[in-house]
Amino acid sequence: MKYYSTNRQAPQATLAEAVIRGLAPDKGLYMPEAIIPLPEVFYETIAQLSLHEVALAAAGRLFADDVPSDILSEIVEDTLSFPIPLVPLNDRIYALELFHGPTLAFKDVGARFMARLLGYFIRKRGEGEVHVLVATSGDTGSAVANGFLGVEGIRVHVLYPKGKVSLIQEKQFTTLGRNVTALEVDGTFDDCQALVKAAFTDPELTAHLHLTSANSINMARFLPQSFYYFHAYAEWLRAGGKGKLVVSVPSGNFGNLTAGLFAHRMGLPVYRFLAANNMNHPVCDYLDSGVYEPHASMPTLANAMDVGAPSNFARILDLYDGNHEAISSLIGGSWYTDDDIRDVVRRVFDTTGYILDPHGACAYLALETRLRPGEQGIFLATAHPAKFTDTIERILGKRPPVPQRLAAFLSGKKQTVPMTREFDDFRQYLLAL
Ligand SMILES: *Cc1c(COP(=O)(O)O)cnc(C)c1O
Repeated sequence: MKYYSTNRQAPQATLAEAVIRGLAPDKGLYMPEAIIPLPEVFYETIAQLSLHEVALAAAGRLFADDVPSDILSEIVEDTLSFPIPLVPLNDRIYALELFHGPTLAFKDVGARFMARLLGYFIRKRGEGEVHVLVATSGDTGSAVANGFLGVEGIRVHVLYPKGKVSLIQEKQFTTLGRNVTALEVDGTFDDCQALVKAAFTDPELTAHLHLTSANSINMARFLPQSFYYFHAYAEWLRAGGKGKLVVSVPSGNFGNLTAGLFAHRMGLPVYRFLAANNMNHPVCDYLDSGVYEPHASMPTLANAMDVGAPSNFARILDLYDGNHEAISSLIGGSWYTDDDIRDVVRRVFDTTGYILDPHGACAYLALETRLRPGEQGIFLATAHPAKFTDTIERILGKRPPVPQRLAAFLSGKKQTVPMTREFDDFRQYLLAL
């Protein structure tokens, strides 16, 4: 399979090239030249298939040209080594819990898959060490660091703003050691991001080191997220789901929703999607008006969705040739304020005992307000509520139970490299590697 850039000014790439590079040389995002539907018989028998079998069928369609089937099967197995349950909240709405992985958020899926696929390509091509740079305001850093931990041939450098991430988030990427280094930057998240961007465009650095990024612009990170949409459908059928299926996705950079659109292109019978946003909602505005105006982001309770210029929007436009009518008839958008989030977390807990996290809360609310007669909905519960203990405690007056895995991080010892916000200091650090 060949991959083209959404900007169409770069040569086509192989999967290995697209994954190692991340962004295309013309700054566009890579797309596969074809998305081939799975056969009808697959959908007729999907309810009898396990998570691994379903994921492997989808992975085969996407990656079989470039990865031998035994290796692909191993990668899929390693990636999805935790359960993804579908939990009914009422007779029409289900939660797909994507937060039972090592860092309790759905980004574990993409990060683990990407780490293993990149590791495979590096070994196969006999490349030297690859350095993954990741700027984080919390959650991406932990998923990427844990996903790449111990993968041979790859070193991860996590840049985070000193004193601006929660203790539990910080512990998830500063206590790992091995091939993961945490850089504690005396600055903001934007400073961290600027340092990473500057590194990628520094000719001396890129000649000296093999640098890549692990955010959802990378094919290998966002595409495996399509696997669990197939699994959601299979679980829904097993649970006796009826009518038209609507899937609601809490969205920031829109990698997760884009993966769902790929599954849809592969024939998955999702009737329509809902994109749930917080106060940062340029895509919702586009869906309503056809006009897309990215803006600077603003902080909200659902902070992993605080994105004012979502990178994967370019992929959505590309999938539907920029046709607003096609896009807005398949995807509906709804956005919510912090007050809406507080209200729904409280109300759902009072009526069902279920604790929503602030991100899943937006997606639940979108279903509650927008499901039509004859439809049933699944929302993606993207993070465990215990990752947002303080927010949840302020809303419910009680702390959500903390899973063992999360508690285990807290006992680790923090190790960081202090860093200023000056690019020259970061540059010297990289040149010395
Ligand atoms: C990253 C993240 C999102 C947003 O996902 P995108 O793929 O960027 O749209 C939503 N919820 C949580 C908990 C996240 O960590």
